[in-house]
Amino acid sequence: MYDVIIIGNGPAGVSASIYTKRANLKTLVIGKDGGALEKAEKIDNFYGFPNGISGKALIDLGIEQIRNLEIDFIKEEVTAIDYENNQFTVVTRNMDYNSKTVIIATGVNRPKSKVDGLKDFEGKGVSYCAICDAFFFRGKDVAVLGNGDYAIHEITELLPIVKTVNVLTNGKERINLRDERIKVYDKPIKRFSGHDRLENIEFEDDTKLPVSAVFMAEGTASSVDFARRIGAVVDKNKIVVDEEFMTNIPGLFAAGDCIGGLLQVSKAVSDGAKAGIAVINYVRNNK
Ligand SMILES: Cc1cc2nc3c(=O)[nH]c(=O)nc-3n(C[C@H](O)[C@H](O)[C@H](O)COP(=O)(O)OP(=O)(O)OC[C@H]3O[C@@H](n4cnc5c(N)ncnc54)[C@H](O)[C@@H]3O)c2cc1C
Repeated sequence: MYDVIIIGNGPAGVSASIYTKRANLKTLVIGKDGGALEKAEKIDNFYGFPNGISGKALIDLGIEQIRNLEIDFIKEEVTAIDYENNQFTVVTRNMDYNSKTVIIATGVNRPKSKVDGLKDFEGKGVSYCAICDAFFFRGKDVAVLGNGDYAIHEITELLPIVKTVNVLTNGKERINLRDERIKVYDKPIKRFSGHDRLENIEFEDDTKLPVSAVFMAEGTASSVDFARRIGAVVDKNKIVVDEEFMTNIPGLFAAGDCIGGLLQVSKAVSDGAKAGIAVINYVRNNK
């Protein structure tokens, strides 16, 4: 059991881990790639680098710092966070990890495809959380939009409950899943349609697929996906935290770009430090 699992190895996540590890908390950092920073060619406005530094080099320095402090670090994609009996389970494709607290530091949400009709059917057949909503569609034909590990995770949650799962890649690469109740469609989607509720997936080739629900699981699970699943409050794609960087779920913290404000390295580092210190106090007070 970890004291804290930090999801994200960007400036916010690494900064938090430095504080929690140095306070002797059992700390695990899980990150899947270089996040926003990897895309930054040159960071010219961060303290201590008079000639600037590439985003990639800054990430590598952060990881070197994690390794020097002997912080447990896993390069993997997190597909879900669960919360039960005051304990968190962080799920990756290969393993589940338990922890007393979690810091979400997964950066800003990536834009996902805008399908016509998506907004109209949110809560009326369009769902963002299989474990939350699968029960409403027991014995029904549903769809999952996505083609990565996150989609696979949602499909796995749905299969024991629904009748069939239609996987929609929306023109992206197919995934191969061997189960007779799974069908994969790789053609582009034109719109979601229906009357009061979602009834059909309409494709660009003018064919229709009748479904009772579509579960959105594109790309990788984002901070908002994690928050929604666990019941943490989200406001306009940002996780809502208090002055201690804690969400409305006790023990669930968030830091960096995913809580909004100034989207800069300096603010992410500061958030991470503050969230790390808040976690230290939380763990010590809840022994
Ligand atoms: C092109 C570009 C240029 C920029 N230039 C500057 C600049 O000059 N100066 C500046 O201060 N800021 C700049 N920024 C902004 C800066 O990069 C961000 O503000 C900062 O990186 C935010 O840090 P973060 O730790 O919150 O998120 P990120 O750096 O985005 O890190 C998020 C971490 O979460 C991980 N993650 C996400 N989802 C999952 C998942 N499901 N499972 C596991 N891990 C996950 C990612 O792999 C990554 O490690 C720039 C950003 C971009 C895109």
